[in-house]
Amino acid sequence: MVSGFAVTLGHMFKEPATINYPFEKGPLSPRFRGEHALRRYATGEERCIACKLCEAICPAQAITIEAEERCDGSRRATRYDIDMTKCIFCGYCQEACPVDAIVEGPNFEYSTETHEELLYNKEKLLANGDRWEPEIASNIKDSHLYR
Ligand code: SF4
Repeated sequence: MVSGFAVTLGHMFKEPATINYPFEKGPLSPRFRGEHALRRYATGEERCIACKLCEAICPAQAITIEAEERCDGSRRATRYDIDMTKCIFCGYCQEACPVDAIVEGPNFEYSTETHEELLYNKEKLLANGDRWEPEIASNIKDSHLYR
């Protein structure tokens, strides 16, 4: 009993192992795979060229893309959907993307109450990209050794 109390007493003066989430958050790796985002160039132009490599490589078949040619001859996605309830967060989409358009960003706080809210379309993904671009760009820079 005495040794049991000694263990309890010892732990009372140690740094707590837990953190006060959501007010405190633990560190995240730059390679963390969180909520998806579609990125833009600094000009505001969408990066995605609708090559569909991410759609082809996705093992969960969670991505659906439709594309068409613009009047300037460039190819862009008219539809880019991700069913987040199918996604297994393998990261293959971002590995396959030749222009770093689709990425799994640092956001992990996107829980919802309905299934429909997790069916992301292009507008939602671009809005995620706009919101998280500084963090995403910094993470891509920090993980260059693994790419
Ligand atoms: S996100 Fe990347 S891989 Fe997917 S269609 Fe667009 S350019 Fe191709």
